[in-house]
Amino acid sequence: MNIHEYQAKEILAQYGVKVPRGIVANTPEEAVEAAKKIKEEVDTPAWVVKAQIHAGGRGKGGGVKLAFSLDEVKQRAEDIIGMQLITPQTGAEGKEVHKVLITEDSFYKGENEPKELYISILLDRDSGRNVIMASTEGGMDIEEVAEKTPEKIIKEWIDPRVGIQVFQARKVAYKLGLEGAANKDMVKFIIALYRAYEATDASQIEINPALQTSDNQILALDAKVNIDDNALYRQKNIAAMRDLTEEAPEEVEAGEHDLNYVKLDGNVGCMVNGAGLAMATMDIIKLSGGEPANFLDVGGGANAKTVEAGFRIIMKDPNVKAILINIFGGIVRCDRVANGVVEAYKNIGTINIPIIVRLQGTNAEEGAKIINESGLKVESAILLKDAAEKVRIAVSEVNA
Ligand code: GDP
Ligand code: MN
Repeated sequence: MNIHEYQAKEILAQYGVKVPRGIVANTPEEAVEAAKKIKEEVDTPAWVVKAQIHAGGRGKGGGVKLAFSLDEVKQRAEDIIGMQLITPQTGAEGKEVHKVLITEDSFYKGENEPKELYISILLDRDSGRNVIMASTEGGMDIEEVAEKTPEKIIKEWIDPRVGIQVFQARKVAYKLGLEGAANKDMVKFIIALYRAYEATDASQIEINPALQTSDNQILALDAKVNIDDNALYRQKNIAAMRDLTEEAPEEVEAGEHDLNYVKLDGNVGCMVNGAGLAMATMDIIKLSGGEPANFLDVGGGANAKTVEAGFRIIMKDPNVKAILINIFGGIVRCDRVANGVVEAYKNIGTINIPIIVRLQGTNAEEGAKIINESGLKVESAILLKDAAEKVRIAVSEVNA
């Protein structure tokens, strides 16, 4: 699960990670109130107005702006709230901004030039260990750094049996070239960050930039925290932070029905039980000359209700020109699924696109019979080869 920057910072602060003073605002008026309050608490020469969306690269898209007066705070908040923010991570359509985070300005407080560093923690699947990654090249283009100059990424793996050791945090701080107070603060920062990572069941924490301020403190200027979905049952406070407006509506609806749905760009919708079979089905669609419009795993308990929900979600995508339903009846019986398909089809009413249903396994023949005798515009297939051929024909008719 993804959360906003302001939420991530709130959580990190609880574990002792230093963050700039900040308050979230839903309107320009709230933004001004927030700025006043921040000014009362910390002496800041300016404020930063930051769009809160579930995507990075906001600075590049005009979603992070400095403001030097309360009027400017209001102006910037007016500009940003409601804007369709396009960043390298949002896709061309961008994301609508509903909230801004107002923070103190952490850059221009002292004499020295502040420095933008990079720190992240994530699971390295190859070694089965958490890894701390760091770089002196923090700021906006870390992906490019990793690609072109991978030697500039420092990595420190953590042994799960003993957890993070202070010497490891020191090693990272030295490799970052930090000295004196900044070095000490970085050691504390890394250890606090690692504690937060473990305690929140995060799958990734990325601080870009971690700022070395002009007075040699280390601050999380930005924060991206992803929480492992499988741990949300024991992270209730974090689960409550979920912002559904940031997620694709079809994926939210699918989640409500315990369906695993991912929208793709193609023209053949597919509904399958089991993730492996779903992947194989997508391959079959491609081999038949189509492009999958989605990944949809209805799970083990496919029944009329789940099939109907799946149908509805697939049909919301205007690109879908044919649907392939591929169910292997192991625990679930094919005749039950067939009844589910027919019932769902009738309930939805107007489905004007070809639907190919391939049922294999327990009671496959009965299932095919139900489909064929339903009188609906649904074709059955028992062999995957048949189903693929029928999809090919359906697709070529669409493309003709
Ligand atoms: P992102 O573009 O979505 O990654 O958003 P960030 O929070 O990382 O902000 C983008 C950039 O804005 C940073 O790399 C900084 O250069 C700048 N920025 C962020 N906070 C401050 C601040 O407090 N003061 C100043 N002057 N610049 C900031
Ligand atoms: Mn950033």
